[in-house]
Amino acid sequence: MTGQRIIAVANQKGGVGKTTTTINLATALAAIGERVLIIDIDPQGNASTGLGIDRKNRPLSSYDVLTGRASLAQAAIPTAVPHLSIVASTLDLLGIEMEIAGQPDRVLRLKRAIEHTRLPGGAPLYSYVLIDCPPSLNLLTLNALGGADSILVPMQCEFFALEGLSQLLQTVDQVREGLNPALEIQGIVLTMFDRRNALAGQVVHDVRAFMGDKVYQTVIPRNVRISEAPSHGKPALLYDLKCAGSQAYLQLASEVIQRERRRKAA
Ligand code: ADP
Ligand code: MG
Repeated sequence: MTGQRIIAVANQKGGVGKTTTTINLATALAAIGERVLIIDIDPQGNASTGLGIDRKNRPLSSYDVLTGRASLAQAAIPTAVPHLSIVASTLDLLGIEMEIAGQPDRVLRLKRAIEHTRLPGGAPLYSYVLIDCPPSLNLLTLNALGGADSILVPMQCEFFALEGLSQLLQTVDQVREGLNPALEIQGIVLTMFDRRNALAGQVVHDVRAFMGDKVYQTVIPRNVRISEAPSHGKPALLYDLKCAGSQAYLQLASEVIQRERRRKAA
C-alpha cells in the first residue's frame, strides 16, 4: 500500500478490547507486510506495556508529541515485531488537558504531528497508524478523532453494547460537523464473543442489523491466550500464533486490507 491510513481505535467504554485490538491488529498487519505505527494515547499505557516497552524505556512519548516537544518519528520506538513501532504513553498524559486546554489548536495536536511524518520524498513512513484511545471522550480522544481518517470501534458482545454505540455515533457526527468533516467509520469489530452465551449471539445479530456491513465478518472470540499475552509483554500473535484469538486477528487484518483495497478502487 502506498498511502497512509490513520485509524483511531476508540470506544468510550473501558474493557471492550480497544488495546487488545490495537496491539493484535497492528501485529497482524505488520506480519502481512504493512509498515505500522501504534500511537498510545491512553495514560494507562497498556498498549505500550503489552508490547514489552518498559516504563523506564520511554524517553519520549505521546505526551512529548502532543505538547510539541518531539516529532512522531523521534518518539517512535521499534518493537519486537518487525515493521511495527509504537509511540508509548506515560502518566504525564494525565496532565495534558490542563496543559493545552487554553490553546486554539488543542484538538489538532496529533493531526499536525502525523502530517509531519513523511520521508524526504514526501511518502508516508507508515501505511497504517493505529491510535489506541483512552476509555472516554476527552481531549485525548478528540485529538485522535481530529487527526484520523477513520474510527474503528471494538465492541464487547454484551447487553449494553448498542446503547454505548449510539452515544459514540453521536460523537462521530459532532466531530464531522466541526473538527474533522472527513472522518469515516472504518468498521466495528465484535470482541470477546462467547458462543456458550446465548445473549452474545443476540448482540451480534442486533449490531449487524443496526450497522450493516460496517460490522466486520470476523468476530473475535473470548480466548484466555489473548488475555495472558500482555503480561508476557507480547502480542497474542507472538505468544501463541495458533490460538483461536490470534487466528481471528489475522483474519480481521486481511478483512481490513481487503476493504481498504475496495475503498480505494471505488
Ligand atoms: P480496553 O482497551 O477497551 O479497555 P482491553 O483490550 O484492555 O480493553 O481488554 C480488557 C480486558 O479484556 C483485558 O484484560 C484483556 O486482556 C481482555 N481481553 C480483551 N480481548 C479478549 C479476548 N478476545 N479474550 C479474552 N480476553 C480478552
Ligand atoms: Mg485500553
